[in-house]
Formats: sequence, C-alpha cells, structure tokens
Amino acid sequence: MIEVQELVKTFGFNPVLRKLDLKVEAGQFLVLLGPNGSGKSTLLRILAALARPTSGLVKIGGWRLPDEAFAVRRQLGVVSHLPLLYDTLSAAENLRFFAQLYDLPEEGMDDLIQSSLAQVGLARRANDLVRTFSRGMLQRLTIARAILHDPAVVLFDEPYTGLDQEASSILDDLLRDLAQQNRTIVMTTHDIQRGHALASHVAILSRGKIGYLGATSAVPSGEILNLYTETIGAGQ
Ligand code: ADP
Ligand code: MG
Repeated sequence: MIEVQELVKTFGFNPVLRKLDLKVEAGQFLVLLGPNGSGKSTLLRILAALARPTSGLVKIGGWRLPDEAFAVRRQLGVVSHLPLLYDTLSAAENLRFFAQLYDLPEEGMDDLIQSSLAQVGLARRANDLVRTFSRGMLQRLTIARAILHDPAVVLFDEPYTGLDQEASSILDDLLRDLAQQNRTIVMTTHDIQRGHALASHVAILSRGKIGYLGATSAVPSGEILNLYTETIGAGQ
C-alpha cells in the first residue's frame, strides 16, 4: 500500500532522510519510532503529500508522489496533534465543511456525518460548538474528519500529545477499531510501549533510514526498549 525507495529529503544543507526504503502492506499498522528530530514528521508529511521529496520514489496505493498528489490525498486521512478545526462551528458543521472540501456527495451526507461522530463517541455532542470540547474530544473529532472520506490509509503524527490517561485509552480503542477495519495505519509516537502494544509492525528511524522493521509479534514487549536503544545507537 505504501512503497518508498531511496527517499531523500534535505532542508538546505540538512539531510534528514537519506535514501530511506520502506514498504507497508495493506492492512498493516506500523508504528514509526525514532529520536526527536530524526525525521518522523518529515516522512509522514511526504506520505501525506504535504511536503515534496527531494528525490526518490514514493507510491501510495499505486499512485506516485508528488505527481499524483491529488489521487493520493483522496485515499489518505491525516491526524496530527494540531486539530485544524473551527472553534465557532459545531462538530457536525465542521465535518460538513470538510465533506464539502472533499467533494463528497450531498446525498447521504447527514448520515455519514452522524455515523462518523458515532464511531468516535461524539454522537451526542454533534451540535455542540467545538470551542466547548476537551483536548481528547478535539482529537476524536479530528479523527472523524480524517476518516470521513473512507481512506485506505490513515497517518497519525504523535496523536497522544496533550491527552490525559482517559483520553489516551479512548484513543487506543479507536486506533484498534480503525486497524480492524483493515485500513493501513502509520503512526509516530514517543510512547514506545504503547506503540508496540497497538501496532502490527514497528519501524525505527535512525540517521535518515529505517534502521529496523519487523512484526511487533517478533519483539516481546520487554525487549522493545533495548531494540530501540540498540538501533538508535547503531545509527550514530
Ligand atoms: P521528528 O518528527 O522525528 O521529531 P522532524 O521531521 O520534525 O523530526 O524534523 C527532522 C529534521 O528536519 C529536524 O532537524 C528539523 O529541524 C528539520 N526540519 C523539519 N521541517 C523543516 C522545515 N520545514 N524547514 C527546515 N528544517 C526542517
Ligand atoms: Mg515529529
């Protein structure tokens, strides 16, 4: 579903991604780990067609970036810790606005909005203004927005940032639901144990490359921290 070959991204003279290779099969839930500044967000932004690769091949669902960015965006949902929602609109109005941006058909839109809100546990808050929402509710509404057009691939950049324990565990359940729906998920997180517990696969970004990639089932939870530290160390 996601294919990256020899991806290079430099900012000025700063080489962030250095001939990075990565493959994510349909239905996999990949957690992308790596130190601060290792380029996790940069990689996600490139996959999301929000930033251009300096060079290399990037394909999503068979479509090539950056040339086919329009087709790629149609099958992608993106969730970062910035909610990008309108405070003065209700939850339902926010979703309607984005549904129109995505050019979704007017017919059935109300049902779609209602079922999306139900999926993230916000059905009863549909008509409340977003400015009254907690951080966790904002995050869930952001997810409802990201999956409104039923994308095959959903990208999450540090989705746990700013969430308390209760909101984090609701997010865990929601991510498990999305994975069950056979979507392909890529998520970055600082929370190595949590990422390991949720994902089907783990990738570790170090020195501009994927230093490790494997099924989480191949790494016992007691060993993920060691594997992480070793992989980061080996990249220095
Ligand atoms: P991570 O998400 O792993 O913490 P980032 O992808 O945000 O890392 O950043 C990787 C590197 O790229 C950092 O050195 C950062 O300063 C640099 N960088 C990211 N975005 C930009 C940008 N728009 N302009 C210049 N440098 C950037
Ligand atoms: Mg980041």
